[in-house]
Amino acid sequence: MRFAIHLAFSWSLLVGLVAGLGQPVHITYIQCGSLIDGKADQARKNVVIVIEGEEIKEVGAARTGGEVIDLSSETCLPGLIDAHTHLFLQGDITAAEYDVQLLKQSPEYRTILATVNARRALEYGFTAIRDVETEGAGYADVDLRNAINRGVVPGPRMEVATRALDVTGAYPLLGYAPNVAVPHGVQVVDGPDDARRAVREQIMYGADWIKVYSDRSYRVRSDGVLDDIPTFTMEELRAVVDEAHRERHKVASHAMALNGVHNSVEAGVDSIEHGNYIADADLKAMVSNGIYYVPTIFVGEYVAQGRAAEGARVWPQMLKIHEGTFRRALKAGVKIAFGTDAGGFAWTENPAKEFGYMVRWGMTPAQAIRSATSVASELMEMQEKIGSIEAGKYADIVAVPGDPLADITVLEKVNFVMKNGVVYKHP
Ligand SMILES: [Zn+2]
Repeated sequence: MRFAIHLAFSWSLLVGLVAGLGQPVHITYIQCGSLIDGKADQARKNVVIVIEGEEIKEVGAARTGGEVIDLSSETCLPGLIDAHTHLFLQGDITAAEYDVQLLKQSPEYRTILATVNARRALEYGFTAIRDVETEGAGYADVDLRNAINRGVVPGPRMEVATRALDVTGAYPLLGYAPNVAVPHGVQVVDGPDDARRAVREQIMYGADWIKVYSDRSYRVRSDGVLDDIPTFTMEELRAVVDEAHRERHKVASHAMALNGVHNSVEAGVDSIEHGNYIADADLKAMVSNGIYYVPTIFVGEYVAQGRAAEGARVWPQMLKIHEGTFRRALKAGVKIAFGTDAGGFAWTENPAKEFGYMVRWGMTPAQAIRSATSVASELMEMQEKIGSIEAGKYADIVAVPGDPLADITVLEKVNFVMKNGVVYKHP
């Protein structure tokens, strides 16, 4: 697959081959009409980026011949980062669709689909993702991450969470007869010792992150607060966080409502996923403890349609609550990282739609872009190598035919993608 893409652009074939053979490193110049570097508020006009092998060598230099990629009518940006994806899901919105996937598709088949999704993510412009669990496909994300890193298949840089953790009775598949053993979309743990053992196991098999599902069963209280049932006890949650941190790994917590978020913040997780309702006191604690908020807005609307059709009226209400929380988080100065829950909706939908929602809910376009570049790179602790266009970083660069600072939705039209100095898409 990757080779076929190379053949379409002879110069990238050259870059790939030269790098592969360890020959003198190839120099490429990208002529950008304008450049948004992932840090500054403003774009710069007519900037040349010098690429040496897999890295950015210089930004803003004059061209001295050599290979030139002409993006003079485009805006260049750092490769986008989606901090909340599920490559192993296909937008199976209803409970029935989810069950069929776990019951009737082998992990091997699902891995084949995931490789296709990885390529799609890259072609949408996402050169790095944090994939927050395989939903019953075991450790296949570790293999996919490794295969991409080794150049076997095209895809974004990945940090993976493997199986995720939840307690008995809290995560699908549910509702089957007690005598029928069914698979689960998570690793089921009960008690702090069991939780600790599972964290050790997942790290042993290659997890970069530990993912926990901290709440379930949502309802809106009469005062408008979104209520939930917390899954883990504090003792269990603290054990997960302590064990992960002891092993220098971070914890992402699915927490959509009052108690799940509060417990997660108290236990010291590193990111709150979804966070439809977050109390002001917890937002304050998130700021002082440096906990990231990954709001995943677009999927909420997508799921709301499916769930509302199934009779769960709470989902459409949750969107309104989510908007209020997002605006309060923005005002409070919480670090907001771009994440979409792609896979929760079909990968044929461009995850970059999320940008439009963030701006509609109060971010400036520059803030929304930073959330998917420099801020997300810090969440992934990869800020030394990705997240901005600067000398010494990996040559992960995308371009769009327009000005995203004027119209953020142009980010849904990425037509140039370079990752690690190799071109995967060209206008
Ligand atoms: Zn998710």
